[in-house]
Amino acid sequence: MSQRIDNFSAGPAVLPEQVLVQATRDIINFRNTGMGVMEISHRAAEFMAMVKETEANLRTLMGIPDNYRVLFLQGGASSQFFMIPMNLLGAGKKASYLNTGTWAKKAIKEARLFGEIEVPYSSEEGGYKRVPGSDEYQVAADSEYLYYVSNNTIYGTQFHEVPTTERLLVCDMSSDILSRPVDISRFGIIFAGAQKNLGPAGVTVVIIREDLLARTPDATPTILRYKTHADQGSLFNTPPCFAIYVVGEVLKWLLDQGGVAAIHQQNREKAALLYQVIDGSDYYRGHAEVGSRSLMNIPFNLPTPELERKFLAEAAAAGLAGLKGHRSIGGCRASIYNAFPYAGVVRLTQFMASFAADNPVA
Ligand SMILES: *Cc1c(COP(=O)(O)O)cnc(C)c1O
Repeated sequence: MSQRIDNFSAGPAVLPEQVLVQATRDIINFRNTGMGVMEISHRAAEFMAMVKETEANLRTLMGIPDNYRVLFLQGGASSQFFMIPMNLLGAGKKASYLNTGTWAKKAIKEARLFGEIEVPYSSEEGGYKRVPGSDEYQVAADSEYLYYVSNNTIYGTQFHEVPTTERLLVCDMSSDILSRPVDISRFGIIFAGAQKNLGPAGVTVVIIREDLLARTPDATPTILRYKTHADQGSLFNTPPCFAIYVVGEVLKWLLDQGGVAAIHQQNREKAALLYQVIDGSDYYRGHAEVGSRSLMNIPFNLPTPELERKFLAEAAAAGLAGLKGHRSIGGCRASIYNAFPYAGVVRLTQFMASFAADNPVA
């Protein structure tokens, strides 16, 4: 597998090699059925057992309490932007959203179709360089829920504390789920598109407290009701079979790594290495404020756009791919999710040091 390079993509993102190797086998012959995992019926015993095991492993890894349901849905994380307010709001109902980046803003836009949306905090004017502490905003007492994005993939900011609130908490964890321990009981709904930290694109995991399933307004289409999927064990209709299977393999890999606390330690070490280079130079500048920095996505700039272009081209030639920043902020971004190896971060920091030495500012 020596042809594989260091893939810093923000999503879809690098998967553990062990998972890919196993998948190549199961694509041909899944659990000795003589059929590949993309070909077998989603009602076959072997397939349904795999979905159950995947859910059980997620429950173990995240410590999901019994009164929460785990759903494997389609439509990407973006579909949750409307599905959440569609199921939890309705005429005369209100919710509060923290605007800490592009994904939060998109969720706010959709939620406004279903209720009155308050935004008690926004870091938009400052360029989304930070996330707030719980004492920096007030959530209206009649809000059905408080919505936030735990890790802002584009801007490289991350909440290091779960917001303290009396309200129901709803969280988009697309880009940091399973990267650190989380107390699930503090949340009403957690969701994550798989393609950053969980597996391939095509499946979205939703963790929802059971009592919320009953809140959905009557006029909601069947397939857009959380209860439909909860009642049917995520097999109401044909699920994203292959994507769920790969998530299952990623979870087994994560268990082999020692679980979430162990991977969190690795994530801290990887990010610290990169932030050390950024903090130790005037050449590289991080986008996020120090107290809000993400362990997953690290956007940074060079002294000029010309140097950034040269940096990206030479990095790619050196086998360091996917470092281009999101089109909305430009610059560079290193995404170093769970599956990204420590050795790859070492190679990037070495490259950064030699690039800065070879390309001094005129
Ligand atoms: C990538 C991302 C999304 C969008 O995911 P899709 O599956 O493409 O809809 C939403 N929220 C966050 C935090 C993301 O990083």
